[in-house]
Parts: sequence; C-alpha cells; structure tokens
Amino acid sequence: MSSTKNQPLGGNEMPRFGGPATMMRLPTQPTAEGLDACFVGVPFDIGTSNRAGARFGPRAIRAESCLLRPYNMETGAAPFDSLQVADIGDVAINTFNIQKSMDIIEAAYDDILSHDCIPLTLGGDHTVALPILRALKKKHGPVAMVHIDAHADINDNMFGEPIAHGTPFRRAVEEGLLDCNHVYQIGLRGTGYAAEDFDWPKEQGFEVVCANECWHKSLAPLMAQVREKMGDRPVHISFDIDGLDPSAAPGTGTPEYGGLTIIQGYEIIRGCQGLNVVGGDMVEIAPPYDPSGNTALLGANLLYEMLCILPGVTIR
Ligand code: MN
Ligand code: MN
Repeated sequence: MSSTKNQPLGGNEMPRFGGPATMMRLPTQPTAEGLDACFVGVPFDIGTSNRAGARFGPRAIRAESCLLRPYNMETGAAPFDSLQVADIGDVAINTFNIQKSMDIIEAAYDDILSHDCIPLTLGGDHTVALPILRALKKKHGPVAMVHIDAHADINDNMFGEPIAHGTPFRRAVEEGLLDCNHVYQIGLRGTGYAAEDFDWPKEQGFEVVCANECWHKSLAPLMAQVREKMGDRPVHISFDIDGLDPSAAPGTGTPEYGGLTIIQGYEIIRGCQGLNVVGGDMVEIAPPYDPSGNTALLGANLLYEMLCILPGVTIR
C-alpha cells in the first residue's frame, strides 16, 4: 500500500553519505502539487541580530537528515505509509532585501497551500515565520501556535526595523494572523531589554511557559493541557532551535543557557499529535557555529517528528 507513495532512499540502496542531499533522501519536485506534506527550505538570515549563518540551515539540515529512516520506532508513526511527501527545494529569497523576501516567501507558501499541502520549513532565521503565518491566515484564518524559543520574538522593532528575527510575532498579532488565546510560548528565558518583556505576549492572551518552569520535568502534562485547549483549531508549530539549551544545540545565533532538553523538545512535538497541525518550522540553525553537524542533525530529527504527528499519519 505504501509502494505508491514517495519513500526515503534506503541506506542499502545508496550509502547514506552518497547521492543528492534532499531532506530524508526523499524525491524532489518543483511544486507541492499532489503532496500531503512537503519539506521546503527558506535560506534567509538577513533578519538576524547577532551571529548570522542560518541561511546555510536548509542545506545542513538536509545533509544531516541522510541518517533518518522512515519508521518512528517509539511512537509507531509511519508517515510515508499514508502521506505523499517530497522535498520541494528552497524559496528563492532576495538576500539583499527583507521586505521583498517577505513577499517572495508569502507567495511561495500561498502556492504550497493552494495544493492543500502542509509545509514543514527548514529555516532560515525566525523572521520567516511572519510570511508563513500571513499565508496560513489566508488559508485557515488566524492560527493557534505552539512556539518553542528562548525569546518571545515580540519586539516592536530592532534597530528601528519593523521586520527582523525578534519581531515576527508582534507583527503577527498586529496583522491578526494569530488566534492569540491559543498561543503557547515555551522555553523563554535569559536576559531582557526591559523587566516587562514577557508581559506583552501575556497581555495578548498568550500562555508563556518560561524555561525554568520546565526544568527537571516531563512536559507531557503541559502538552495534555495544550491539546485540551487547542481542540480542533488549526495550529502552527514554530520551533526556534535556541529554545533548547546550547549544550544540546550550540549551532545557533543567539544562544541562551538554561534551556529545554532534547527530550523535552521531543515531548512537545509528540504532544502535538492529534492536533490539527497545518504547518511547522525549524528555524535559527546556524551551521557556521555547528562544526559537528549535531545541531542540524537534531533539527532534522525534530522536523521528522513534526511530520510524524501530522493529521492522517498511520500509527502502527
Ligand atoms: Mn525566535
Ligand atoms: Mn530564539
């Protein structure tokens, strides 16, 4: 039954270190036509405020994803049994112009969504969440969101600029892209510009779960709460790799210590199973700061976990 769907190229068909580096060694195609879900790269990092490099994220994630196999041995998910999935390549952003890139990205996601395909994004810095949410709003209305991050990304501006990687969710609220009473921000921490930095999202109705509230705990109970609250609303998962501790994910531009564990990252994504997930992104992986490739490999695994919880995935 699965033979009609795209399958990742197996490690016994071509050595894992050989062949073109597509996400999970899946076939590529130029558009999302005929797909239930796609992996799509957005090599954009001109919204970063500290270390740049996330433009290399999509390639690094794809390269490291060569190790991934089709079946999720713990959750039983068999995404390639029931979903048609491919890697549709990268969005051709304009690396000299943030505004133009926003429009290019939004148009690319309009096209993906016109095929009823769920986009799983290989970032790119977190600025890319804004045009993704703009496109999702047109398709689904304001979406709920599970946002994993060290930072709230609700700054009014950065260096006077309204669009940057620290502002996407401020703009998203202003533009009515989010169902604000159904947004969870998990893993926030570190130092702020002002003591009130995390008040603004709470005033919008967001649930803010700081990293220290997660320390030494399973996040399964939190995710039970999230599922209860979200119901069948359309949900986007926006995963900034810096939500995890830099000991687990050093390859990123604005690291903050005391972050979530890898296991908690898995618990959050697996805890989204059963939700009406309409999109997911994995952002802020900066390969120049990731000499081992482990941060990109972790990102690849977390994207796979997102694929595994999408509606319609076979659970064996
Ligand atoms: Mn972020
Ligand atoms: Mn962040």
